[in-house]
Amino acid sequence: MRDAPLLEVRDLNAWYGESHVLHGVDLDIREGETVTLLGRNGAGKTTTLRAIMGILRRREGVIRLRGQDLLKLPLHKVAQAGLGYVPEERGIFASLNVAENLMLPPKVAESGMSVEEIYRLFPNLHERRTSQGTKLSGGEQQMLAIARVLRTGAKILLLDEPTEGLAPVIVQRIGDVLVALKERGMTILLVEQNFRFARKVADRFYLMEDGRMVGSFPGPELDAHMDQLHEVLGV
Ligand code: ATP
Repeated sequence: MRDAPLLEVRDLNAWYGESHVLHGVDLDIREGETVTLLGRNGAGKTTTLRAIMGILRRREGVIRLRGQDLLKLPLHKVAQAGLGYVPEERGIFASLNVAENLMLPPKVAESGMSVEEIYRLFPNLHERRTSQGTKLSGGEQQMLAIARVLRTGAKILLLDEPTEGLAPVIVQRIGDVLVALKERGMTILLVEQNFRFARKVADRFYLMEDGRMVGSFPGPELDAHMDQLHEVLGV
């Protein structure tokens, strides 16, 4: 059963109040895979992550992690099961410094990265360890948001547009971090609009439009799907 999905989403529907936003989303992620969700603003990418994580509660369908049903679990149990969410807004505590921000979320697994390992992976965070959240650049905040989830021991990272608004050199560094995490066997669900960035790490792409999955293909086949991609992204 090596190819059985680690995370399996079937016919996922989700609502904000009365507004039906996700319409029958299907998604599979195998262990160690990096899967990228592409789609234009408002397509439902963030909502998919929030629905999988259980932050958005009004959902129907199936979300299974190694066969365990996550749909009924509260958020902290979903985190304990191994899912770590890095929201687009990053959620860095402005009044705490880097080291304090890192220690904030509780560990969910003993296998979580040690602070030493984190500083090896993110040397700039080590340099900035006593700097307050407010003093960090966008790139440093993004690194810290990823690092914080790695420390908890999450096995599947849900990353929402980690490159948004960042300079190319920082985007490159985030790419290097994702490659390093892949090499460590991390499983990643990445939401991106920047497919040029995503292609460096994605084993598979999903295309999303109006709350629905409209396509899926292996990473190396990206070029063959450029027309559909341009249409879906509106570029
Ligand atoms: P973006 O890149 O802008 O984050 P996205 O693909 O992640 O786009 P979502 O944020 O998931 O899209 O939004 C999907 C739909 O849900 C949109 O129509 C959006 O207007 C709506 N929506 C998002 N957040 C809320 C909310 N808190 N309340 C009501 N509707 C929302």
